[in-house]
Amino acid sequence: MSEGVAPKAALPTAPSPTTERYARHVNPAFVKLLGVLGYGRVFTRARDVWLWDDQGREYLDFLAGFGSVNLGHNHPRLVERLQRFLTEEALHFCHVGPTEHAAELAEALCARLDPPLEVALFASSGGEAVEAGMKLARAATGRSAFIFCEGGFHGTSFGALSLMGEARMRKPFEPLLAGCHRIPFGDLDALERILQKNKVAAFVVEPLLAEGGVILPPPGYLRAAQELCRKHGAVLVLDEVQTGLGRLGRRFAYQGQGFVPDVLVLAKGLSGGIVPVSVAVTSAELHTRAYGATDRFDLHSTTFGGNALACAAALETLRILDDEALAENAAKRGAELLDGLKKRLAGHPLVRDIRGEGLLVGIELGPTDSGLLNRLAPGLVGLVSEKVFGQWAALRLLEEGIVCQPASHRWDVLRLEPPLTVRPAEVARVIDAVARILGDYTGMVPLLRDVVARVGEQRKREGAFR
Ligand code: PLP
Repeated sequence: MSEGVAPKAALPTAPSPTTERYARHVNPAFVKLLGVLGYGRVFTRARDVWLWDDQGREYLDFLAGFGSVNLGHNHPRLVERLQRFLTEEALHFCHVGPTEHAAELAEALCARLDPPLEVALFASSGGEAVEAGMKLARAATGRSAFIFCEGGFHGTSFGALSLMGEARMRKPFEPLLAGCHRIPFGDLDALERILQKNKVAAFVVEPLLAEGGVILPPPGYLRAAQELCRKHGAVLVLDEVQTGLGRLGRRFAYQGQGFVPDVLVLAKGLSGGIVPVSVAVTSAELHTRAYGATDRFDLHSTTFGGNALACAAALETLRILDDEALAENAAKRGAELLDGLKKRLAGHPLVRDIRGEGLLVGIELGPTDSGLLNRLAPGLVGLVSEKVFGQWAALRLLEEGIVCQPASHRWDVLRLEPPLTVRPAEVARVIDAVARILGDYTGMVPLLRDVVARVGEQRKREGAFR
């Protein structure tokens, strides 16, 4: 692959038809926001860890569709399987009998999981599968309350949104589902207090807070949380939508933690980065309690859940993950990324922490001491650290040919999350670019100066998309 990325001065300014159509018919405010700092790019092509925009510029993808593209973009084996599948006259939809592809995928998935996980409820998105877990917990326990974590992210449909750990995303839609209790991530005492006082159906939790800022729990947290749930008759739903399927350096995030969740939710990476598919997997016992009677078997369903194409894609994805040992690669490359960043950024006055597991790494940005500007204008420094710095770093990296984004709930945490196929040289290139860019900012003053200059420049161009 070539390394060439055109310098900023060469950026074309004419809007593309895609930008105009998107702004008019899909999401006007998003396009406007991209224009504010000059983030505008139209990406049109992708292969493995590489993306290209409509100007032919090449980028290393360290976002991977927010953790969906574990196999790398357009993995040739998956593409070939899907091409062949479309010639097989498969029964795509029927809904009046058991379906071959859903049965095969469910068996293959459960063979990779641990007992008692053996019944799969398929859907298309992560949020839908989280809601499948929530409904299953209610139907199985006959209880109504839920517990979720501050900083958690489980989707934006009404049920999943009721467990959203950030106020900005909930507020416009309230009132949400009643009886949803928020606790700090990692706090077992808070969990037990809510379990004692309420009839809780489920505690829904991520193995680590991904959108919440790449926050790892204390050791043994999930296992202890499940013990508390069991003691109080509640179910533990583990949301591995972003962290499962190799992302954290093992096939499933719960493995090696001394417990098996009551419900495991997978989505994003199961798609192979191509065909939407998600699943909530549970035990036969819980499934029977919820849906195991002839007047209850159809209480939960979705038209596209378990469709043939999605199942074929997911099955091939599971096989590729194994055959190419991508979880192992995630563990090795993730360690290189974390160690390399820690070495290169050690003692940096604007780097508060570098953390992560496998190929999900976060760099927490912001002043580590009370510099002069911080003492004179703490509000401004707080605002810039929390709302601007992460996006600014992502923009500078974009201009170096690297795509990444801050965590959705924590814009001060720059998240690095490449496909699991990433190679050592690509990891090294990103470490180098991050260290070089952050090296330009050893205090808040130069950062503010550059941001103000860029906003001024964009203003003159009337916030043009590019
Ligand atoms: N759960 C987690 C942990 C996620 O990160 C996401 C999406 O980012 C979801 C659930 C929702 O998935 P979807 O966007 O497919 O509904």
